[in-house]
Amino acid sequence: MKRRVFSGARPTGRQHIGNYIGAIQNYVALQEEYNCVYCIVDIHALTSLEDTAALQENIYEMMLDCLAAGLDPKKSILFVQSDVPEVMELHTLLSMVTPLGWLLRVPTFKEKARSQPQNVNYGLVGYPVLMTADIILYKAEVVPVGEDQLPHLELAREIVRRFNAIFGPTFLEPQAKLTSFPLVLGLNGAQKMGKSYDNHVELAATPEETAKRIMTAVTDPARQYRSDPGHPEVCNVFKLHQFFNASRVPEIAAECRTAGIGCVDCKKLLAQGVNTALAPFRERRRELAANPRLIYEVMNDGARRAQIIARETLTAAKEHMGLVRRQA
Ligand code: SF4
Repeated sequence: MKRRVFSGARPTGRQHIGNYIGAIQNYVALQEEYNCVYCIVDIHALTSLEDTAALQENIYEMMLDCLAAGLDPKKSILFVQSDVPEVMELHTLLSMVTPLGWLLRVPTFKEKARSQPQNVNYGLVGYPVLMTADIILYKAEVVPVGEDQLPHLELAREIVRRFNAIFGPTFLEPQAKLTSFPLVLGLNGAQKMGKSYDNHVELAATPEETAKRIMTAVTDPARQYRSDPGHPEVCNVFKLHQFFNASRVPEIAAECRTAGIGCVDCKKLLAQGVNTALAPFRERRRELAANPRLIYEVMNDGARRAQIIARETLTAAKEHMGLVRRQA
């Protein structure tokens, strides 16, 4: 029996190469070893989203990209969080056993409260409780996390332990699967690649758009003239070559250091590498996009399968909490 993995990601619309290198390729690989439950967490998105006009489109585009990248509904349950409302009920039940102090000391809550002072909502504080509900509702044994997310999972484990101690063994304590989620810097080389910084390359971009964006990338700042030797170790274009032109990395490094290649040609080479690597993805995406009904069917079927597990878990939790009335 394969063990069950759960992971959720916010609906961020069309995915970019940073998302692919940093997360999606991992999710695809995990499908071979685990029963995976992957969820687009639209309710979590509401903690920082006041305008929801693009929400449904973002969910659709994200699912489309994930399917084109290799997430397989025959191997995994792929669904949207709010399509299984049991998660909100479990969130409420878990909130009764979660001390407020635990939540107020979470660093991401403090950061969010600082970054969106106009919208410090109740959902922000309860975010770790909803995250715990996401994981345990689907009886996940394993959660892939980066090192920085370990404290969040530990908090989920503490909530589970507290619930089980009060109401008896009910939930599995999820284990962390420490996973490397490579941090991909954006084309400006300053922040993590992200749409909000407009420093990204969409997976679904055309080859021309891809090349155009890559040509704007910041390189080694010390390399002012074509004849200056470069320092690939400080250049973000070079880092991207490691993903998209892996076999040519030693050659590119040597040519950069001796000014044998200029940054313009080096970026053209990167654009070729990205376009070649993404060609099968783009082809598959075109095929899927021609049949939107299929994408919605994947989401509906995923929600149906997820809900079967969710109802079982929720019933057990309510029984253990004394919420199920025994009629004479
Ligand atoms: S030649 Fe390539 S690796 Fe070297 S600084 Fe320019 S873009 Fe970066």
